[in-house]
Amino acid sequence: MQSQSMNKSSMSKGMMNKDFMSKGMMMEEKLMKVSCAPECGFSMTSHDENELIGMIKAHAKNMHNKKVTSDEVRSMMEMI
Ligand SMILES: [Zn+2]
Repeated sequence: MQSQSMNKSSMSKGMMNKDFMSKGMMMEEKLMKVSCAPECGFSMTSHDENELIGMIKAHAKNMHNKKVTSDEVRSMMEMI
């Protein structure tokens, strides 16, 4: 009984470690998402806030001929 449960826990531990190792770098950083208007359907995700802001600004300008400020983009951001 005891050795069985020990095996089980060490097995799942090993699997978790593997998972953490492959995703660890990405999971350490927060992933942020900004969605454009629902009728547009555009959304961006990035770990890099500045990159995200830049891309949303470019999208708003190119696609909507709209100027958005960094603060506006930040207020649209959600952590995922
Ligand atoms: Zn859009």
